[in-house]
Formats: sequence, C-alpha cells, structure tokens
Amino acid sequence: MPELNTPTAPEAATASLPRFDEFGLAPPILQALTEQGYQHPTPIQAQAIPVVLQGRDVMGAAQTGTGKTAGFSLPIIQQLLPHANTSASPARHPVRALILTPTRELADQVAENVKAYSRHTPLRSTVVFGGMDMAPQTAVLRAGVEILIATPGRLLDHVQQKTLNLSQTEIFVMDEADRMLDMGFLPDLQRIINLLPKQRQNLMFSATFSPEIKKLAASFLKNPQLIEVARSNATAERVTQIIYKVEEEAKRDAVVHLLKQREIRQVIVFSNTKIGASRLARELERAGVKASAIHGDKTQGERMAALEAFKAGGIDVLVATDVAARGLDIAELPCVINYDLPYNAEDYVHRIGRTGRAGASGDALSLYCDKDARLLADIEKLIKQKLVPVELEDFHPRSGRGERADRGERSDRADRQSDRQGDRYADRSERRTERGPRAASAPIPRKEKVDPWFLKPYEPAAPAVPTEAKPADARNAKTPPKRAALLGGRSKG
Ligand code: AMP
Repeated sequence: MPELNTPTAPEAATASLPRFDEFGLAPPILQALTEQGYQHPTPIQAQAIPVVLQGRDVMGAAQTGTGKTAGFSLPIIQQLLPHANTSASPARHPVRALILTPTRELADQVAENVKAYSRHTPLRSTVVFGGMDMAPQTAVLRAGVEILIATPGRLLDHVQQKTLNLSQTEIFVMDEADRMLDMGFLPDLQRIINLLPKQRQNLMFSATFSPEIKKLAASFLKNPQLIEVARSNATAERVTQIIYKVEEEAKRDAVVHLLKQREIRQVIVFSNTKIGASRLARELERAGVKASAIHGDKTQGERMAALEAFKAGGIDVLVATDVAARGLDIAELPCVINYDLPYNAEDYVHRIGRTGRAGASGDALSLYCDKDARLLADIEKLIKQKLVPVELEDFHPRSGRGERADRGERSDRADRQSDRQGDRYADRSERRTERGPRAASAPIPRKEKVDPWFLKPYEPAAPAVPTEAKPADARNAKTPPKRAALLGGRSKG
C-alpha cells in the first residue's frame, strides 16, 4: 500500500488545506459553516470564493458533488450582507441574486444550502420550480426575497403573472448550464437574461464545455475568470470500471446478482428509460431488494421521498434516469451500476462521477449486451480507455422466459421495444411538465459532439485527499461492503 494511505496522511493533507476564515467571510456565515460540519473549503470553493467576492464574472467547470454550490452561494451571501435588513416591507427585500438550475431537485438542494448558509443573517431566500402550486410561491415572492433559486420555466411563469420583479438583480448564477441546453432551455434563458439589469455579476457553472456552452458564455459573461477543478472525465481515474457481458434477458437477474455478490448498499442503478427504471425497481423489490425509481414521471413528492429514503438508508437502490439523477445531492457512492449503457458517452462520465469522488475510490459496474458495441466504443473514445467486457462470475440467470411470464411479465420484450422507441429521451416529458405549454415548440434535446477541450488528458488540480491507484486487474475481485459517504456536513456518514 502506498505511503500516502497511512493513517497519518489525512492529517498531513488537511494541514495544508485553506480555511474558510481566510476569505474574510462574515462571522454569521462562518458560524453556519461550522454548524454544517464543513472544516475546509473544497478545491472549487477555495478557487471560486475569492474571485466571486471580487465581483468578477466566473465560468466554472465543475459538477455536482464538488461543493460548487457553496462556492458561489457563500460569496453571494457575503456580498448581499450590506443589504440585509429585518424590515417587513417587501420593497426592502428585492431579488438581488438569481440562481437558475435545470431541475427541480437541484433547485431544491441549492435552496436548502443557501438557507443553511444564511441562517444567521436576515437575508431571505426561496425556491420556485414547476410541478408545485404557484400560490404559496407567489406569497413568498410578494413578501420579498433577496436570493431566488428557480428553474427557468416556473421563473418565467412568475414573471408573466407579475409576481416577480428582477430589475434589481445584482448577481446571476446559471448552474449546470450544459444540462440547461440539453433540456432545451436556451430560449427561456435568453428571455430571462433580457429581464436582468445590464450591470450585474454573472456566474456560470457547467460540467462540460461544448461549443454551444462557450457561445452562451460569451454572450453574457464579461471577462470571466475560468475556474476549473476536476474535469468530469477525470473521475474515471479513481473509479474501477467493470463491464459485464450479459444477455439482454438476463440483465435484471444480473443486477440482483451483483448486489448480492458484492453486498452492495446505496447504489444508483442507471436506466436509459423511465419505463425501464420503474420496471427494474419493481423487479428488484420482488427480489427482496429495497429499491425505488426516480424519474421525470414521478411527482415531485415521490422523487423527494425516494431521495430522502435513499439518503437515510431506508432504500438501498435508487434506479434513476440520467436527467433525474443529474443534480441529485448524492456524492461519494461506493458504487454505481449502469443497467443500460447510456446513449451518450458523456452521460457515462456523469454517471460514474457519482463514485470515486473527493479522493475516494469507487466501482462503476456496467451491463453490456452485444447490441451495445457502438455505445461502448463511444465511451472508450471519450474516456480514452479500453474497457473489455468480462463474464459475470457465478452467474446463472433463470433462463426460461416462462418463469417471467409466471411473475406477470408476459410482455417483457414488447416493453423493451417500447422503451427504445417511445422513450429514447427518457426525461423529455419531465422537461414538458417543468416548462408548461411553452415546451410544446421547444427543440428536442440533442447532444452535441464532444469538444476537444473536454478530451484533453486530465491533470489533477489538487486532490483533497491522496488516493491509491486501483490495480487494473481488480475487475473480478470481490469487494467488501462499503457504505456511501453522502456529502452533507453533519449528516456525513
Ligand atoms: P455540491 O457539489 O455543491 O452539490 O455539494 C455536494 C455536497 O457537499 C453537499 O451535500 C454539501 O453540503 C457538501 N459540501 C459542500 N462543501 C463542503 C465542505 N467544504 N465540506 C464538507 N461538505 C461540503
């Protein structure tokens, strides 16, 4: 075992890390951070906080799980403190910071963080997103909030209803800009930007930088400082990736087998389709696994409940589509499983980025069928790594389809067919629900070709904790059961 992983190494590593009190953040903010259990800023926080405090525009290359939310919200709260007041007058609480996110879950999580970080200040914040009654949101907006977190569609609904005035916005944050474009939000974003005062600070975060993202950035960022921590394809280096070759019909049995064989708890299983996700969750439940599906057809309440149960350990397996999983505040999972290889190689990188974070190692297990050859080739090209499918050890799938029929799955094949045809973009309808009638004319999400910038070999910035390289032949090794460490301050496991 390398010397870096001796018990004294973490102490040596943290001694040289920056501290929150070096940034000049006000005592109420520092107090909140202590209460959150944050001891040291993450690399993106260390880089972003001073730059944002200077009032500069920022283009941040970072994905969820890096601590980027605090990276932008802490300096925002600090900058707004001079405006903080306890007046009951709504006029004294105009929206001064607007944070846009592509999904409801991410909006909710960002809002939770902002609330926590600002809890010892009189600054007000709220979140608005689709799929919820507008009336309570309207009441809060009318009373006045300084920090507003929103998804684009619902924000525009409020603007249209004149329950929201953005003319005093000083700071604008666009979070997960790449996903915003994927979800067809570009026209909404442009409308929103036009509603903001010309003089303002802009912060944009994106996990990937396609030419479209760069174009968008150039259209509204002024002389931005580029902040880059770990490019999303970097995660592959800390993750043991195993591709298991299985028959299409045996995939669900293979998931159950993997969960049992490797004693996996707290895992996200990725499905390309909503129907597939629901069906797999049901099948896992039948096999005695505590599982729940999370995707765009679930109500907001159902998604939140599943997420909370997962975090609390009441559910071991969350079966998710890409859009639903994106932005979930779940980090440092010991393992993710690709039930389907994703249609877009970039999604593979996002998926496996759920594990192997912050210096930890993780396993990304994928099921591969012969029809997936092109998808696998795309992934290999993107991550610049050869992935050789291997047999799944000791796996004896229940072969007969009759057995499945007995369990009420007569139309298994037909279902899969419909998955592929009717649900290729798994969360398209989620986008529609979110955005209401406007989305009817919205363009179908389309993935762009990967930018060469993204393909540059990764050079680690400054890992928080030293890591041990995983042996290349770890493929079939049985791993001891690991619990997820879900980032989140005090709740950290
Ligand atoms: P984010 O990438 O912003 O979604 O953050 C991921 C998770 O990391 C959240 O649960 C945060 O509460 C947590 N987190 C953010 N900053 C820190 C920090 N400095 N120390 C410990 N946890 C953190």
